[in-house]
Amino acid sequence: MDLKFSFWLLILIPYLILFILTYKNPPTVSNSKKKSYAIIFLALVAIIFISENVINGRFARKGVPQIANVTYSFFERMILYKEAMQERLPKKIEINSNGTSNQQTFVLIIGESCSRRHMSIYGSKRITNPKLSKRKDIFKYTDVVSPYSTTLNSVLTIISNADLENRIDFDKSIDLIDVFHSAGFKTYWISNQSPIGIWDNLITILAKKSDYSKFVNISSNSSFEATYNSSYDSKLFNPFKTVLNENVDKKFIIIHLMGNHSSYSKRYPSDFNVFEGKNSKEETIAEYDNSMLYNDFIVDSLFNILKSNTTLHNNTISSAIYLSDHGENVYDINDRAGHDYANEMPQVNVEIPFLVWLSPSYMHNNATKTETIKININQPYVTDDLFHAIMDLNGIQCAYFKEEKSIFNEKFNNSRLRILEDGMDYDAK
Ligand SMILES: [Zn+2]
Repeated sequence: MDLKFSFWLLILIPYLILFILTYKNPPTVSNSKKKSYAIIFLALVAIIFISENVINGRFARKGVPQIANVTYSFFERMILYKEAMQERLPKKIEINSNGTSNQQTFVLIIGESCSRRHMSIYGSKRITNPKLSKRKDIFKYTDVVSPYSTTLNSVLTIISNADLENRIDFDKSIDLIDVFHSAGFKTYWISNQSPIGIWDNLITILAKKSDYSKFVNISSNSSFEATYNSSYDSKLFNPFKTVLNENVDKKFIIIHLMGNHSSYSKRYPSDFNVFEGKNSKEETIAEYDNSMLYNDFIVDSLFNILKSNTTLHNNTISSAIYLSDHGENVYDINDRAGHDYANEMPQVNVEIPFLVWLSPSYMHNNATKTETIKININQPYVTDDLFHAIMDLNGIQCAYFKEEKSIFNEKFNNSRLRILEDGMDYDAK
């Protein structure tokens, strides 16, 4: 046995312990056989994840403290998860201003693994945004990055007042469901991600805290398994139309896409199989770009559904944001594909699209705010501060709101250093 091999075994020990502990004391996500399948998948994911890192020499590069860190946060997440399962009710927040109108709808569309380097509206050579590029009613923000390169951490910090600067624990944070529920909005969560999985279970809890939650992707036994199956995002159109048609004055809607997650070829129907490659690397890039083309259709359609609903109920003030949870490296900076942070140039994993759609009624009623939104499109931003920007966009005021952290505010502080999860300064390229 050589030295490197013994090192491999050493780093697997915490995951084996975790597997045994998890098996003895399983989390209660759903009933029946799904539970045991989910646990087996959790263990497999952990082992595959570690092995993949070791094979690619990333642990050697990052050093042992990183291993300890990963193991620690893994345990920490599991404990938080169990605690969070206990309380599913939104926290009551004191609200000072509950919006800009009696009838208001806000939609947050959270994409998945979408790198703006592959979007033609952000300059990619392949025309992957034939629909979004024709829209005159969106504001395209050009310099937005995600705080993390993983779904769980990114979504939790987007939604809550926890960020990379304050490092508030998620279980102690206030999130947008708490805020909008307290402001008298009905909260909705519509998702095409799998509700079962180790990385996503805290997101599922958050979703279930909403007044209404719907998961349309339930054919897989885990979020890991779901990445190898097809569940097209167009499945979200009907539930979205249904909630928009509900007779409720104030709506806060989150739509969580499957987006551009690997396996890329599973993300789009055959009509979108447009780009091709000559070898396996080129084929992977072509599949990713096909998924971008489909994502263009999805995001454009969601904006259109909201637009026609707003026209139908012309007293409603509507707005929407599309962003991705994190980026993706598809052979852009090295010979690999994925959103692993530990590569030579982590920037690509956090460079995301950020689009804002406002209804004509929104722009008419909020002329000054609209002007600031237009002026600030090239400002640097990290989406861990989106909690503040979304409150700002909707005219919500409470003690947790910080105007300097909202990119839609004229007092926005653009001098924040964008220090990412591993301590790297994004702007020191
Ligand atoms: Zn993700």
